[in-house]
Amino acid sequence: MAKSRFEYVKNYELPDPLLPNAHIVVRVDGRGFHKFSDAHNFEKPNDQRALDLMNAAARAVMDEFGDVVLAFGQSDEYSFLMRRSTNVYSRRRSKINSTVASIFTSAYVFNWAKYFPGAELLYPPTFDSRVVLYPGEKEVRDYFSWRQADSEWCGWAVDADGSGGPVHCLRRGGGVPMSPRHRLTPPPAHINNLYNTCFWALVHDGQTPREANRTLQGTNSKDKNELLFSRFGTNYNDIPPYFRKGSVLVRVDPNPVPVVLLEADDDADDDGDEDATPEAALASAVEKRLSVEAAAKANGEDASGPKQAGGSAMPTTEAAHAKKAKPYEGTTGEIVVLHEDIIRNPFWRARPWLLA
Ligand SMILES: [Mg+2]
Repeated sequence: MAKSRFEYVKNYELPDPLLPNAHIVVRVDGRGFHKFSDAHNFEKPNDQRALDLMNAAARAVMDEFGDVVLAFGQSDEYSFLMRRSTNVYSRRRSKINSTVASIFTSAYVFNWAKYFPGAELLYPPTFDSRVVLYPGEKEVRDYFSWRQADSEWCGWAVDADGSGGPVHCLRRGGGVPMSPRHRLTPPPAHINNLYNTCFWALVHDGQTPREANRTLQGTNSKDKNELLFSRFGTNYNDIPPYFRKGSVLVRVDPNPVPVVLLEADDDADDDGDEDATPEAALASAVEKRLSVEAAAKANGEDASGPKQAGGSAMPTTEAAHAKKAKPYEGTTGEIVVLHEDIIRNPFWRARPWLLA
């Protein structure tokens, strides 16, 4: 087709690639979810249906993008971590950002009736999203710690003026609730949930939102725990981890290499303690992988194998081992929902691929 004289305008669309090798995090956040949660009668401070729906929407994002290896959500927000080396959409920022927000939002609407049977969706919910790049593992860990550490405060929260909605940001150590217009970043999850649990306990006990807010002003986490226990007989730690910790979506390695190889190794290995630590187990697995690769090569096989197992002929034992020995990248396998601590090391140590 001949070029039209209008075509020059396409030069105004500038490329916006994300820095190679940087860790990509996309965070979606409900817009105006105070109002939305009120209009749809979300249970306060935590509505399991609403959280399940958020998780379903997050799962849809992971189903679409194999390279999203981790998702963490609480209240009306979700953060998605992409595999560091991802080349999805040639790492174009706008494309990634808009597609994640779009899939999330449409999946939220699509699944509404499943999680809120009989409740009409009164108007279209919307989510904004942003992409943030992190240069290293520390920053990625700190980012997710930030979202979870603060999460004891969150839920379908209350506004500084006592109106409903997921907005609360108390400063660490007990401070003054910030008004939405002062809030540049979403509230961290833990801290919000503790605040909201107290707030709604007081409201259900007869205080007005304004009074409850005043009661809690200037209290720190210890004060709030004490208030919950002494006044309502509630031990905050007894509240389900789902509400206190938020939700984590990760995939499960369908062929957990170190375990398979170590089990195969057991007969030959007299020293039972040799691989007692995770580090030793990993080292052993890597060593084993190298020898398997060498054996496969000698047999004229490609030890790295295709990215995903095809439906071709039955592989030899060595080739099968070699495929299993390929480091898991977190892009295949069943997606599971966890409600556990992602601040401390064990979560990350068990899943080295998340930061690879
Ligand atoms: Mg929001």
